[in-house]
Amino acid sequence: FKLKLEDMKGKKSISKDGVKVEIAANIGTPKDVDNVIENDAEGIGLYRTEFLYMDSDKLPTEEEQFEAYKIVAERMEGKPVVIRTLDVGGDKDIPYLDLPKEMNPFLGYRAIRLCLDRKDMFKTQLRALLRASAFGNVKIMFPMISSIEEIRKAKKILEEAKEELRNKNIPFNEEIEVGIMVEIPAAAIHSDIFAKEVDFFSIGTNDLIQYTLAVDRGNQDISYLYNQYHPAVLKLIDMTIKNGHKEGIWVGMCGEAAGDEKLIPILLGMGLDEFSMSSSSILKARWIINNTSKEEIESMLDEVLSLPTAKDVEKFIDENILA
Ligand code: PEP
Ligand code: MG
Repeated sequence: FKLKLEDMKGKKSISKDGVKVEIAANIGTPKDVDNVIENDAEGIGLYRTEFLYMDSDKLPTEEEQFEAYKIVAERMEGKPVVIRTLDVGGDKDIPYLDLPKEMNPFLGYRAIRLCLDRKDMFKTQLRALLRASAFGNVKIMFPMISSIEEIRKAKKILEEAKEELRNKNIPFNEEIEVGIMVEIPAAAIHSDIFAKEVDFFSIGTNDLIQYTLAVDRGNQDISYLYNQYHPAVLKLIDMTIKNGHKEGIWVGMCGEAAGDEKLIPILLGMGLDEFSMSSSSILKARWIINNTSKEEIESMLDEVLSLPTAKDVEKFIDENILA
């Protein structure tokens, strides 16, 4: 089987019935790009920039950030690189930011909420991202979006950052795509409206599952409740993809579920355009896509989405799709 996977290098990610998708990689630092290239990813679907902030004892400067983003953009040679703005708070602490101690950190002062509150810090990152966009196919993604106001505020600050660069004649991609993570149930439920405000969605199932099922993703005592096959989660994913497509935007997924061998066929059937996962899963995912017919899965979706339990969903996939 290993040999078969090696065969997938250089191949397209295209279903048995000819539907092309993109299989991309998740990274945390520029060093990870070696693995991305080694496994023949078609892009980077999630660059988690928080490590740049966490591995330091002070805020990274615009220059330091620019270098980190630029090198990734250059090494990917025009392939898409989706860079997520700072997603800290909650469980990810940064001592020098002096974040408040909270009763419910996962529901608290984090990610875009923190960035919109600390505009200077946010704009520094946005300038660095924009500057890197002159060196490759960079796209900007905002995490933890729960309302239209947040998107509009973030885009307004992005416009200010663009204007500052223009005034200094610093080049950047004027057409840069801007998207959001769909990882809070409100974003999925309201995705028909959100889709009018952005260029793409990327579904973050790690958090979407946590918030939909009210299960702390790191709590071992309740981990048996954390389940990517829960029909409520699948309905939100399906709804998000359909609503994105209705507005003509592309929809990806960068949570762990995108690399789940059992879910990949279902996601393909739902119409997911981009699957972003750890580099080690890419060739396997491509093999699955190449051996699955999108239309066939699509015709089973009504049944899958009306199954009562996560166990039923898993059993259905085992018996009707993987068998
Ligand atoms: C997610 O929530 O699915 C995601 C990809 O982001 P993170 O795991 O960094 O929260
Ligand atoms: Mg998340």
